[in-house]
Amino acid sequence: MRFAASPRPIRSVLVANRGEIALRVIRTCARLGLRTIAVYSDADAGAPHVAAADEALRLGPAPARESYLDMEAVLAAAARAEADAIHPGYGFLSENAEFARRCAAAGVIFVGPSPEAVARMGSKIEAKRIADEAGVPTVPGFHGEAQDRETLARAAARIGYPVLIKASAGGGGRGMRRVDRPQDFAAAHAAARKEAEAAFGDGSLLIEKLILAPRHLEVQVAGDRLGGLVHLFERDCSVQRNNQKVIEEAPAPDLPAPVRAALHAAALKLCRAIDYDSVGTVEFIMEAGGSEPYFLEMNTRLQVEHPVTELVTGIDLVEWQLVAAAGEPLPLGQEQIRAHGHAIEVRLTAERADRDFQPVTGRIEAVAPPRGARFDSGVGAGSSVGLHYDSMLAKLIAHGRSRELAIGRLAAGLSDLSVLGLPTTQTFLRDALRHPLFTGGPVTTRFIATAFPGGWSPDPAELRRLRAAAAAVWILPGAEASGWQNPWMRRSAMRVTRSTRPATTELRLLDEYGEAELRVRDGRDGLAVEVDGELVELGHVSREGDRFVTQQGEFPLRRVGDRVMIARGGLAIDATVGLRIEAAQHGGEPERAGNRVAAPLHGVISQIYVAKGDTVAEGAPVVQMEAMKLVHTLLAPLAGTVAEIRCAVGETVPSGAVLVDISPAAEEQG
Ligand code: ADP
Repeated sequence: MRFAASPRPIRSVLVANRGEIALRVIRTCARLGLRTIAVYSDADAGAPHVAAADEALRLGPAPARESYLDMEAVLAAAARAEADAIHPGYGFLSENAEFARRCAAAGVIFVGPSPEAVARMGSKIEAKRIADEAGVPTVPGFHGEAQDRETLARAAARIGYPVLIKASAGGGGRGMRRVDRPQDFAAAHAAARKEAEAAFGDGSLLIEKLILAPRHLEVQVAGDRLGGLVHLFERDCSVQRNNQKVIEEAPAPDLPAPVRAALHAAALKLCRAIDYDSVGTVEFIMEAGGSEPYFLEMNTRLQVEHPVTELVTGIDLVEWQLVAAAGEPLPLGQEQIRAHGHAIEVRLTAERADRDFQPVTGRIEAVAPPRGARFDSGVGAGSSVGLHYDSMLAKLIAHGRSRELAIGRLAAGLSDLSVLGLPTTQTFLRDALRHPLFTGGPVTTRFIATAFPGGWSPDPAELRRLRAAAAAVWILPGAEASGWQNPWMRRSAMRVTRSTRPATTELRLLDEYGEAELRVRDGRDGLAVEVDGELVELGHVSREGDRFVTQQGEFPLRRVGDRVMIARGGLAIDATVGLRIEAAQHGGEPERAGNRVAAPLHGVISQIYVAKGDTVAEGAPVVQMEAMKLVHTLLAPLAGTVAEIRCAVGETVPSGAVLVDISPAAEEQG
């Protein structure tokens, strides 16, 4: 296609986004011969998307509001670069009707639907009304004009508890409140309204019946400006956490043919009702085992999970967005669009899966992409992951002839990928994919809670193996030499044994999962490491550059002084290793912080619930902090009196900073 000769000519595209999606869009533009312009905030000056584009322009400081969300700055950049079109990606300005309008006013093509479609589907209330009119079933609930609490409470009672209060302007799973009993309605309503106003500048709410074990199903659609409209089959995105998608697949497994057909037809009906003219997604929710999908909302943009549809249809959805925006007809008609096999995607985030998915910040030291899976990534070695944007680093997507093969390939990809320096959800995702509940067939949005009831933690044997390897790397000479050397030849503080073999070295290791005591023995059969009393046989080992080589395989690694970052089979650790004697000398015991409230991560203090001298119960909220758009409430570790407050609202604090001191309550009070 010659976009330059289209009804709405496109020669250059400004990509108003960052991370993996900016790179993804740039890739297609480059393939189509379009000039690309990246934009960036100060935090992203060295980001991969900046280097990938033909040209890059600074938008402003790190906060999204002053850069990626600043319409003025984005439009000014487009004017400066003489961009014909702006691709908004997802998030940021992608579903902002005012931005779409301002693009039109400035004579720039917005790569998305008409501003009217964005506006109408941007309100969940209005979208549900349009669906009602079009005869598309919606989740039973209330989406009327009235917003007073009494009307909403009456509606909730009529719908029947439990219900879900939702922000009409909501997105990303935010602004939702589950209410189980009528007496809790008032408080939940107030909280939801406040949250909606703060997050979206619009406090309008709607009420829905809470579906207890739902599947999330969605239909990929594409329209053009000439009236063409097709669907590209469905996706199942039921694996979620906090109402946010984690694993997505196409097609939806075990969906009865009539339900599938009804789903596609409903999506097209809704799109026709609004003359939809771009790529978009119509979302539905359906009770597990049910046969009636209810319309939930429509996203008038490219979705994070679009690659699974690309892998089953062979269609480049970014190209189709550009085709539609250029005023050309869609390349294929409905009958020409076919789906082959099965595709699954996982979202890799910078979070501690073992700590209730707490977001983490830091620097990525090394990334080795997975073999056998598509890897849409926004980061590389040296990338820093900060607080300003969401925590998604990359996506892995695999295709197979069957669901089973796709799962196998994706799990293999997750085992092959290595990310060193920053904890990610990689191992959790691998374990989730291999979980019998997931491999066994369709799951509901309760999958994670059901499959990992006490939360996720790494397999102990796998962790021991990695710790043993980290210890061996610490002892081994550097990259230049290879083979095991007797430790006392290079370390003076080594324990001296009377016989020369086997040599034993006692180490202590600290990593993100805790502490371990290790005893490394060099015997005739190579290295054997006792990790907390359990034996791990490593055999003959060597270090070759950034790889630790054993008879059972290789471990990618990075060593910086006593810090050993090492991965294997999908698990990675960031370990600090030392001799046990030295650790003791340095007071190696972790500081007991029992009567302190410390920041679990780098973030901003948003609320302080206590004052000096207050009495607090164990588990009482003390401080609220925000990091990476998530809110964390820190609780009192014990009952007592607030002795000192060491932070202020609005202050940015580093991970580990002591925020509040609590004097333990006297014995008789406890
Ligand atoms: P957002 O726009 O914030 O993403 P959605 O309306 O798309 O909100 O819902 C996100 C997710 O929340 C759904 O995929 C589903 O898991 C859950 N959810 C939404 N509505 C309901 C409901 N009525 N009952 C149960 N779960 C729901």
